[in-house]
Amino acid sequence: MDHRPATTGSRRLLSRLRDVMAGPGTAQQRLDKVVRIIAGDMVAEVCSVYLLRAGDILELCATEGLAPEAVHHTRLRLGEGLVGVIGATARPLALSDAQAHPSFAYRPETGEEIYHSLMGVPILRQGKVSGVLVVQNQAPRHYTDDEVEALETIAMVLAELVASGGLVSPDELHPVGGIATLPHRLDGVRFNPGLAIGTAVLHEPDIVVTKLIAEDPAKERQRLETALAEMHVALDRLLRSDVLGDSGEHREILETYRLFAEDRGWLGRMHEAISSGLTAEAAVQKVREDTAARMSKVMDPYIRERMADLEDLAMRLLRHLSGEAGRPVRGRAELPADIVLLARNMGPAELLDYDRRCLRALVLEEGSANAHVTIVARALDIPVVGRVASLFADVVAGDQVAVDADNAQIFVRPSEDMQQAVERALADRSSRQEQYRILKALPAVTLDGVAVRLMINAGLLLDLPALDETGADGIGLYRTELPFMARATFPSVEEQAELYRRVLDQAGDRTVVFRTLDIGGDKLLPYLPGAKEENPAMGWRAIRIALDRPSMLRHQLRALILAADGRPLDVMFPMVATVTELAAARRIFDLELERTAARRRTLPSRLRVGTMIEVPALVWHLGPLCRKVDFLSVGSNDLMQFLFAKDRGNPRVADRYDDLAPAALNCLDTIVRAAAMAGTPLSICGEMAGGPIEAMALIGLGFRTLSMTPSAIGPVKSMVRRLELAPLARYIAERLNDPVASLRDALAEFARDHGIAV
Ligand code: PEP
Ligand code: MG
Repeated sequence: MDHRPATTGSRRLLSRLRDVMAGPGTAQQRLDKVVRIIAGDMVAEVCSVYLLRAGDILELCATEGLAPEAVHHTRLRLGEGLVGVIGATARPLALSDAQAHPSFAYRPETGEEIYHSLMGVPILRQGKVSGVLVVQNQAPRHYTDDEVEALETIAMVLAELVASGGLVSPDELHPVGGIATLPHRLDGVRFNPGLAIGTAVLHEPDIVVTKLIAEDPAKERQRLETALAEMHVALDRLLRSDVLGDSGEHREILETYRLFAEDRGWLGRMHEAISSGLTAEAAVQKVREDTAARMSKVMDPYIRERMADLEDLAMRLLRHLSGEAGRPVRGRAELPADIVLLARNMGPAELLDYDRRCLRALVLEEGSANAHVTIVARALDIPVVGRVASLFADVVAGDQVAVDADNAQIFVRPSEDMQQAVERALADRSSRQEQYRILKALPAVTLDGVAVRLMINAGLLLDLPALDETGADGIGLYRTELPFMARATFPSVEEQAELYRRVLDQAGDRTVVFRTLDIGGDKLLPYLPGAKEENPAMGWRAIRIALDRPSMLRHQLRALILAADGRPLDVMFPMVATVTELAAARRIFDLELERTAARRRTLPSRLRVGTMIEVPALVWHLGPLCRKVDFLSVGSNDLMQFLFAKDRGNPRVADRYDDLAPAALNCLDTIVRAAAMAGTPLSICGEMAGGPIEAMALIGLGFRTLSMTPSAIGPVKSMVRRLELAPLARYIAERLNDPVASLRDALAEFARDHGIAV
């Protein structure tokens, strides 16, 4: 491992800073001294500290070199000027000609026009920017990477002092007020459905690193090594525990995570930080901060996941270094018994540190539906809402929080009425669950005798028990990409076959429709790097990748044929846009079937090949398409996304257009008619199928097979059993050309008039 020699200079500087911080004087006097020392040490004419106030204003709080009158007067918004850019991007800038930079903003009161060069770094704490530290030089100067690194280390020391109130009173910096005590609602994205109410617990580092500067790097290195060894033992124990059972993709995720603890780059950066004069704790903290800051800028979901894993590990390591690890895991006695856990982001193992019996819900400021922590939360059956902006600014530990994950909302400090409403809804739900349990054995048949097939969507082995629990007719959509995403390498044919075999075994006589890999877009595989795309949802994804990389598709089809081993097999292709794409995919399938036959292996007893309808273009070519497929399945999530040109993952537009808009229903009506004319079996497997009112509309249009999230089976079945189809079909047909944005109200009225709960 490459350890740079300890720079005595940098260690000496950190010691001096520590002495000043601990020394006499007001906060302002100490901060003034700090900037003077840094300027001297960095051989810069200017050193300034800007701190974040009121959310997005960076205020000049101390300077050596700029006009003293500018202190507490010069203010920049995040993103404004070079300082604002450093704050907004959380990345350092080192410029020999600062004024040539397009973001340079001249502030006459500072007198900074004479300074040519500028190096600035964010002051980061827990991955968040709390200020910016800048040095400037009159003459053009090239700052080296080592200098940037040194300034970052200083910024880190400053961050802790700012946070502890050691330099400036925190009240001064973040005036509290406004909504801080009022009930209000925050919106996010639904990652796992459910409803819960509980007490906010902020998942923040529970370890505050107070000793930052060390004299003896060798000793710190030794401490780090010991803590690492302890952490490995403890991790092995945690991963062996049986909270989650031993099968399922979450286990694979956790095992990959375990491997990250041995990542050489990660360990190397910690050793480097120790060499620069930090204690082992501070070194781990620094690397953690760096990772968190980088993570907030990375869009690639896979890399973000990896970084979240590393952050999780760093926290764990800190607990070992501080001797906290021996305490009952997150079992601090003061934790409430009804935890609504709030985190910016989280690694999968961190969630397991909390007592499952106390966990009510998880709310993330970031996160994604397929994030490792989300998958583990799903395995634990905890509602999850993610991407809740400014979560930490609005919620304080100990607040009551109601989480309505079904509607992707959280209610902070809900009013008494609201709390009662949630509690009533929870009680209602459990009694309804009981009803659904009773319904499980009854058929989904309308009052006028029309049978509707209700199937579940699945993607992980842990979804399969839902087949029995709900009494569903089968799996209408098995998303094969999820297990691929949780791995570091492409699974072999045999590994894939083993997985599909288990799915088929558990399904027994019930149909399972396997969808071939729907990767690309935002579902990236680490071992299949793609170029960065402007519009990934419309980019190189799904069938497009499969046809360009046919061996990947061939391997998957081979695995499916092997897994079927003489049983029926149903396979469909995602994101098909033309009949020729489907034909090409079918040809590849035929090649695999021929290969199987040539090797005298068992062929599926019956093979059905279908396509999803997710790209609107297909809707105008259904006749020829139907002649080439055995079935069709509408992927309404993508179909609506492309029909309305609305990004399904963008909360600002995702709900702007209703799936029950006349245009959407007309489009679905066209599909139903074409499929009926061709005699092609049709189903729908987007989220739409799982809402009782949407399902009612779909059945009214003519859909007879609906595949949905397992928890929707009960409510949809109870709707079906109260439905009279003929009047509904007439009711919808008469309204398909109404000049309204949505038929939702009209459909709700129909339901009300007919005593149907939707
Ligand atoms: C859909 O698009 O409706 C669908 C079922 O596929 P996915 O949600 O996996 O994109
Ligand atoms: Mg889709």
